Amino acid sequence: MSTQHSALNERKQQATPRGVGVMCQWYAERAENATLWDKEGNAYIDFAGGIAVLNTGHRHPKVIEAVTEQLSKFTHTAYQVVPYESYISLAERINERAPIAGAAKTSFFSTGAEAVENAVKIARSYTGRHGIITFGNGFHGRSFMTMAMTGKTAPYKRDFGVMPAGVFHARYPVPEKGISVDAAIASIEDIFSEDIAAHDVAAIVLEPVQGEGGFHVVPADFLKRVRALCDRHGILLIADEVQSGFARTGKLFAMNHYDTKADLITMAKSLGGGFPISGVVGRSEVMDAPNPGGLGGTYAGSPIAVAAAHAVIDVIESENLCERANELGAELVAHLNAIKAANGDIVTDIRALGSMVAVELETAEQAKTVQNFAMDNGLLILTCGKYGNVIRFLYPLTIPSEQFRQGLEILQQGFATLKVNAAEHSA
Ligand code: PMP
Repeated sequence: MSTQHSALNERKQQATPRGVGVMCQWYAERAENATLWDKEGNAYIDFAGGIAVLNTGHRHPKVIEAVTEQLSKFTHTAYQVVPYESYISLAERINERAPIAGAAKTSFFSTGAEAVENAVKIARSYTGRHGIITFGNGFHGRSFMTMAMTGKTAPYKRDFGVMPAGVFHARYPVPEKGISVDAAIASIEDIFSEDIAAHDVAAIVLEPVQGEGGFHVVPADFLKRVRALCDRHGILLIADEVQSGFARTGKLFAMNHYDTKADLITMAKSLGGGFPISGVVGRSEVMDAPNPGGLGGTYAGSPIAVAAAHAVIDVIESENLCERANELGAELVAHLNAIKAANGDIVTDIRALGSMVAVELETAEQAKTVQNFAMDNGLLILTCGKYGNVIRFLYPLTIPSEQFRQGLEILQQGFATLKVNAAEHSA
């Protein structure tokens, strides 16, 4: 490691707490589309996309232009004090596009966790009930309510004391891992009989594709049956699309892949193309439940981030990023299948919806080895999953084909080192 980076690591250790775990030992200097450069001038192909934030790439020219124009007008008024039109027009554009039954309304916040918190507030206010059902291995954020909702203890909830009450975890259906749709539905019914009566439940909150949990795609019949349970008991269905939204899966929202409709959808990350903005879209009647003053936040729907979000929607549509997500995803899956064929048992599963693609390995160590090899060779990738044994891909959908293939090449070499290691081990 360069002396500049080691000196910064030393200062980081002195100045910032270890609780903010940091993956890279090097420091960002600048970035453009799918490339990140460190302070030494080394380039990295970015298949992490700032954790699903950069579907439109780093510094998309249209995003930068929109933000620059907004910077020259005003940067902050607090929407609840002095409103601005761009917030309304962004809500209108999302209302037109979101897969919500009937008339929709949208409110904006800053982070994914905040969007989820507010969806829960809206659902509680509308139903007059308190219970929230989420799923094992789901991730919803690091605030107290969203920590409670997250279905993974370490590192998210461990040592942080008592979680807010009223949150219960059902099983997320993963038929190939032995959790059938029937078993997952039964786990919700068990909650109704053992933990909280169905008529006290405000909402079931579900990621249509589990993000941190390992890129498991929800089966259509499960969604349909959850919707039927919700309708029978007057419960709202909330889709958390913070990670799966904005063209990643080949549609604007992952829920667009299904006939089933959610009452509320949370969004964040790639909505802002690198600027902090999140939102909740939902059925108008439900969205209007909280009283004036019940929703909002000082920075909620910042004019800078709203300008960026408008540009993001323009870019997704003008550059056909949903189609591009499908093309890139299909190429990656073909490549992963070839890697699987060449590496035998090491690859245990390949999952994909559009460009929300993951490859599962036998162990977390193997995933880490590939990740480290990739990093040493100029490719940034992330892991996820209950056991950390899944590599996920969140490259910008704007990545040039040639650079994408360079990334795939490095990935393939990373897997090849595993095979060499395994051969040496057994020799
Ligand atoms: N929900 C989901 C599905 C997520 O993937 C995340 C972030 N990984 C969050 C909520 C929380 O978002 P944020 O980190 O912006 O609070």
